[in-house]
Amino acid sequence: MFESFGQLLIALLIALMEESHSPTPPPHAKIIFMPQPIVGMELSDMRQILPPDQPAYRAQQIYRAVYQQKVADLVEITTLPAPIREHLASEAELGLPTLAQRYLSTDGTRRYLLNLADGRTVETVLMPMDGRDTLCISSQVGCPVNCQFCMTALLGLERSLTAGEIVGQVLYAARDAGLLADTKRFNIVMMGMGEPLLNLPNVLKATRILCDQKGINIAERRITVSTSGIIPKIYELAEAEVRPKLAISLNASTEEMRQEIMPITRKYHLKDLMEACRAYPLRNWETLMFEYVLLKGVNDTDDDARRVVKLLANINCKVNLIALNPGPGIAYETPDPERVLAFQEIVMRSMPCFIRRPRGLDIFAACGQLKRNNLETITA
Ligand code: SAH
Ligand code: SF4
Repeated sequence: MFESFGQLLIALLIALMEESHSPTPPPHAKIIFMPQPIVGMELSDMRQILPPDQPAYRAQQIYRAVYQQKVADLVEITTLPAPIREHLASEAELGLPTLAQRYLSTDGTRRYLLNLADGRTVETVLMPMDGRDTLCISSQVGCPVNCQFCMTALLGLERSLTAGEIVGQVLYAARDAGLLADTKRFNIVMMGMGEPLLNLPNVLKATRILCDQKGINIAERRITVSTSGIIPKIYELAEAEVRPKLAISLNASTEEMRQEIMPITRKYHLKDLMEACRAYPLRNWETLMFEYVLLKGVNDTDDDARRVVKLLANINCKVNLIALNPGPGIAYETPDPERVLAFQEIVMRSMPCFIRRPRGLDIFAACGQLKRNNLETITA
């Protein structure tokens, strides 16, 4: 059929070209345009999305508009010339979360269910307090750690959040609460959904963005990350130049009990956790926080309290006691208030020890209650 090898080659080339011009390429060959979210970018990332001939201060203009001015739409960045704004709009999107549901508690707590770009939702809780507001943000959708007393655990892990999705929760809540110009007054706790240290690179990037004085400008000492005790990641966190304060969910006074209520600790032993805590490089203004969820008849005895004191000896720390916040699917009970007080009294003799007052119980917004599916039972 082909008289020479050359002819065969030409025929093959023509066939290939026809294939590449085919009007309906196979689905795997389709190029899907994904605009890049700007929230979550650091200054250096922003330089990359501008045309190369643009001066460096253009990226700074975008950075300030997004994090200082906290615009709700790219068209609001009026400092940029129109062609650059058009270029931005064609390459990128702001990438803020949108509201799926807002629940208001009788104590003023606001619980937000926020839509992410892929259709998933995540939860954020704002707890107004005198002078300062505490904002509890999520680091993952669901959580892969299987703590037996926590409702988020029932979801399993859907995925980790990007740095932009972590920062986006702060920007969203600031706008909703009318605090756009005053984000400095936030105390941020990464104690919502998820295990932050299993999403450490994004948590650290979000922290750098939240703390940058040229942007959102929240002090490092006003951000706390809480972990169930992922030991290698505690060492990694210690190395970070900009890092939040560290809180450890201790939750038991013996290895045995800890393994029972927090099965992940079969891998990360209490003895090694204490060693990591003792080695943790605290800054001069910092104390380690230990959280302890009290479960009736399980980990709430005087002996438990005495063992906690022994475990934490010589660590510059404070203890936060949390009486279990109950929920459907959780097999444990909340201890009586007198038991919680008795526990506190023993620990307090040796170190500062506080009882965390539950916030937003009526809208399932308290510690360990974040799980989307229970929301049908709540009236907004
Ligand atoms: N995953 C991280 C941060 C989110 S949980 C961590 O475990 O530390 C935040 C805090 O809520 C943890 O101290 C956890 O022990 C506590 N917690 C979880 N479920 C709870 C519940 N049902 N009642 C009270 N506190 C709970
Ligand atoms: Fe995850 Fe923390 Fe809940 Fe444990 S307590 S399942 S680590 S969110």
